[in-house]
Amino acid sequence: MKTDIIEVLTKLVSFQTVSATSDQEKNAFHAQQFVEAHEYIKHLFQDTPLIVETIETAGKKTLTVSNKKTIAPDIAMIVHLDVVPAGESLWTMRQEGDRLFGRGVSDMKGSITACLIVMRELVKMKSNDLPSVMLIITPDEEIGGASMKFLRDKLKYSPQFVLCPDGGYGWKMVTNAKGCLQFHFQTTGKSAHASRLAEGVNAAEPLIELYQQLRRVFPHQNEAAWETTTFNLGAFHTGQAANQVPDLAEMKLDFRFTNQSERALIEKELQSAINASPLEIKTLSVVDGHFFESNPNHQITKKFLYCVEKVIGKQIEFVKEYGASDARFFTDVPTVVLIGDGKYHHSSKEEMSLTSLEQYAEAVLTFIKSYRQ
Ligand SMILES: [Zn+2]
Repeated sequence: MKTDIIEVLTKLVSFQTVSATSDQEKNAFHAQQFVEAHEYIKHLFQDTPLIVETIETAGKKTLTVSNKKTIAPDIAMIVHLDVVPAGESLWTMRQEGDRLFGRGVSDMKGSITACLIVMRELVKMKSNDLPSVMLIITPDEEIGGASMKFLRDKLKYSPQFVLCPDGGYGWKMVTNAKGCLQFHFQTTGKSAHASRLAEGVNAAEPLIELYQQLRRVFPHQNEAAWETTTFNLGAFHTGQAANQVPDLAEMKLDFRFTNQSERALIEKELQSAINASPLEIKTLSVVDGHFFESNPNHQITKKFLYCVEKVIGKQIEFVKEYGASDARFFTDVPTVVLIGDGKYHHSSKEEMSLTSLEQYAEAVLTFIKSYRQ
């Protein structure tokens, strides 16, 4: 299996599937790279009875590979083909013993490779009693995951169980990941000379007041516990000169929280601060990233973890993460976010263990075989 992994992963790493940059010319090049990567994946299943579909999702293309035609498979493996930008040398995979290097080896083309191999092995299994399995390959996790949201909310894809090998490195299952709410506020005032304040309306001050009110509820903490709700002032733009009353101000805030009641608190405090403002505070945009929770004691989750433990020969640990993955769209479905030894994702040192990828594929195959037992 290791030779297959090397062959497929080398190819996948070579496609420069970067989700988006500010450079138009580069975007066209990257879009073409996605097309080529899709062609390559389709080619892997050319002579098999598996169903490969290309679906338009939120203006981009998602690829699915499944053994039965359904949008409610027993098992879905969710992966993303997009990667963050990288220097030229990282598009060629490099191997040193068991360690693989290159853009995407750990986030998450190594995982995609393991899942593609699972699908290919599935074809060889003769049983009529196999569960329905679908591999879902989205193009935009790194820029918000609109495609997975579209599959869930609009197209109603509803798997019974989800595997997401995107995080939980070192065989640590992710039980929680923080949610994220980002707001872009704007106020409009009236310009005047600083010596005649009464003639103007300062646009910046209501935003400063809003910030301070929120900071009283969610204070700065240098060593905050994971459970603590935090917020960051990411951008503040206003005015040109000291002697001018600014007539326009904008502020961007980013909140991180762990559960529904904290989320409700953020919204309540924000609304009361906005209502109290003497000047209208407009909300230009909201980015809403759901928090993630998964119960490790769910029966099917335990069954999968048992299969992993048997292959790797050690107990699975549990971890709470800060960043989210596309798994956040499956909070109502038993979901396992977990993969083997990978590190330094998004950096030029990104690496992944070859053995871990093989073990992951083996564990998933064992799980599929024993699914009906
Ligand atoms: Zn990822």
